[in-house]
Amino acid sequence: MQCTQCGSEQTQRLEVIYEQGTTTIRTQSTSVGAAGNGNFGAGTATTTTSGIQQTKLASRAAPPQRKSKVGGVCLLLLGIWLNWMGMHLNDTGWLMLPGMAALAGGFLLLQRATAYNRDVFPPLYRQWQASWLCHRCGCIYQYGQH
Ligand SMILES: [Zn+2]
Repeated sequence: MQCTQCGSEQTQRLEVIYEQGTTTIRTQSTSVGAAGNGNFGAGTATTTTSGIQQTKLASRAAPPQRKSKVGGVCLLLLGIWLNWMGMHLNDTGWLMLPGMAALAGGFLLLQRATAYNRDVFPPLYRQWQASWLCHRCGCIYQYGQH
């Protein structure tokens, strides 16, 4: 697909660049340990480290992300915990005030994340899928959305 800026043919879809530049790595390291103390024992431990390795270009071509709901869920749990303490322990009734605030904040965060993922994220993702990168001038442009 020709670049809209410089007319170069050296272009690729962001999706392709992202997938090619992102590799999942798994490295294994083995450590050997020995224990003395009369009876001799030796054991090996294998540690597997896995992660994602990404080229600079791939991170530039990364897709938009959905909003995480972790923060909202954590606030809700905090609110439940504060309220529980406020109800069940002596002289801690005041804890229910920050507890209620945490619950309200948690609901608000969850609601905002849900609305973002439903209304804002899909068009952003579609735009990303229709985006191309020019390897000559480095610009990112959309194709097929006009
Ligand atoms: Zn170009």
